[in-house]
Amino acid sequence: MAQVEKRTASVPALLEWEYAPAPEARDIVQIRERYGLFVGGEEVEPRSGEWFESISPSTEEILFEAALAGAEDVELAVSAARGAFDNGWAKLAPAERAKYLYRIARIIQERSRELAVAESLDGGKPIRESRDVDLPLAAAHFFYYAGWADKLEYAYPNRTPRPLGVAAQIIPWNFPLLMLSWKIAPALACGNTVVLKPAETTPLTALLFADICRQAELPPGVVNIVTGDGTTGGHLVRHGGIDKLAFTGSTEVGKLIMRELAGRDVRLTLELGGKAANIVFDDAALDQAVEGIVNGIYFNQGHVCCAGSRLLVQESIYEPLLEKLKRRLSTLRVGDPLDKNTDVGAINSKAQLDRITELVASGEAEGAEMYQPDCRLPERGYWFVPTLFTNVAQSHRIAQEEIFGPVLSVLTFRTPEEAVEKANNTPYGLSAGVWTEKGSRILWMVERLRAGVVWANTFNRFDPTSPFGGYKESGFGREGGRHGLAPYLRFE
Ligand code: NDP
Repeated sequence: MAQVEKRTASVPALLEWEYAPAPEARDIVQIRERYGLFVGGEEVEPRSGEWFESISPSTEEILFEAALAGAEDVELAVSAARGAFDNGWAKLAPAERAKYLYRIARIIQERSRELAVAESLDGGKPIRESRDVDLPLAAAHFFYYAGWADKLEYAYPNRTPRPLGVAAQIIPWNFPLLMLSWKIAPALACGNTVVLKPAETTPLTALLFADICRQAELPPGVVNIVTGDGTTGGHLVRHGGIDKLAFTGSTEVGKLIMRELAGRDVRLTLELGGKAANIVFDDAALDQAVEGIVNGIYFNQGHVCCAGSRLLVQESIYEPLLEKLKRRLSTLRVGDPLDKNTDVGAINSKAQLDRITELVASGEAEGAEMYQPDCRLPERGYWFVPTLFTNVAQSHRIAQEEIFGPVLSVLTFRTPEEAVEKANNTPYGLSAGVWTEKGSRILWMVERLRAGVVWANTFNRFDPTSPFGGYKESGFGREGGRHGLAPYLRFE
C-alpha cells in the first residue's frame, strides 16, 4: 500500500465518486449444464466422448461444459458443410441468401441483452462494452454483408464471382461473437458454408449463435460449430476437405498454420497480433488525446489486437500529458463485468493473467518505471490493475512484444521522422493512431506508417464498411468492407 501511495503522490486526486452497484440481470441468459457440437443443423454429442469446462474469469465459477471435438467430430462437421454447399446453399438465389443474413442480424438485435450478458460472464469484459460495442457491431456485420449477397457482380464488374466452398474459421477469445460475425457473415454472403471453432475459454456466444441459426431456419450444415481447444483447431487446419481457412489469433499459431497449409490448395487469411503506436504531437487537443489513449489500451482489458499499447509522446508535452493520463487512470473502475459502471473487467483466463504478469515483471527488471493507480481488486477472479510504464527503451520486451493486457508503454520523440521510425520499429503492423491538429501532418504520417489501419484523432473505431487487417507479422487479408468479400470468392 505504501508503495502505491508513493507512486501516486505526485498526481492530484480527482474528486472521488462513490458509485452504487448497477448490476445487469444475470438470469436473462439461461446457461445449460452442457452443450454439444452444432453439426448439420443439430446439436450432437461429441464422438470423442470428451468435454471441457468453461470458467467465468470474474468469479472462477464453472459456467457449463462444452464438447471437445476430436478428429472424427471435425470430419463430420466438414462433411456436413460440404453437403450443404453442394446441395443448395451455393446455388441458392443470392437474394434468398441475403434474407437469412438479415434474419440472423435481426435476431442478434432482438437477443442482444442476453448475448451481451453471456459474453461478459464467459469472457470477463464489462457489460458496457459487450452491450454498446460487441453486440451492435455483430448485428451490423450481418446487416452489411446481407446487403452485398445479391450485389457481388457489381462489386466485381466484368468478372464472375463464385464461392470457394467450405470455409474453416478459427477465432480467439477477445471478441467472441464479434469475431464470429466478422468471419461468418462475409463467408455466407458469398455462398460458402462454414465450420467455426471458437476459443476454448469463450465458447458460449458461439453456442447461442447455433440456436440463432436454428431460429433463422438456416439450412442444416451451412454453419457448423465445433468447440474445443488448440487440438480441435489443428484437426480443422489439417482437414483435406476445406477450401478456405480464416484465422484470428496469435502470430505464433498463425505461423504454424501457414506451414501446415504450404503446398495445399486452401485460401488463407491471417489476422494476428499487434503492437500499435498511438502518437501524440504537441499541437493535439490533450484532453481528447487522453481519452483516446485510455480507450486505446484499457478498452477490453487491453485484449485487443489493434490496442494502442505503445504511446509515443512528443517531448515538449510529455509532462502535462502524463499528469493528465495518470489522473484519468485513477478514475477507471475495475471490477464486476456485469456492473454497468465498470470500465475494466476481468482478465480472460489464468493463463493470460500469468502472461501479462510475466511481461510486466520483465519491464521492471529491464529498468522501466511502473505506475499503477490505487485500486481495489475483487478477491476472486483474474484481475490486473491498469498499468503504465515510463522510461521505456525500444529494446525492452514491453515495447516489442504483444502483452494483450491493460499495460501501456510510454516512449517519447522529438520530430515526426523519429515518431515514424519508432512506430514502425516492431515486427507487427496492424494499427496506429495519430493525434494532431494539422491535416497535412496526418496525411504525411499515414503515408509512412506501416499499419493496416491508422486512426486520426480517435482510436479503436470500427465499422463493418471499413476494411481491417495487417502488414508484416500482423498477418494478411482484409476483413470488413468490400475488401472482406474477396477472400471468400474465386473468379471465373
Ligand atoms: P491462440 O492463437 O492460441 O488462439 C487463437 C485460436 O486458435 C483459438 O481458437 C485457439 O484455440 C486456436 N488454436 C490454438 N492452437 C492452435 C493450433 N495449433 N492450430 C489451430 N488452432 C489453434 O491465442 P492464445 O489464446 O493462446 O493467446 C496467446 C496470445 O496471442 C495472446 O497473449 C495475444 O498476444 C495473442 N492473441 C492475439 C489475438 C488477436 O486478435 N490478434 C487474439 C488472441 C490472442 P484455443 O483457444 O482452444 O486454444
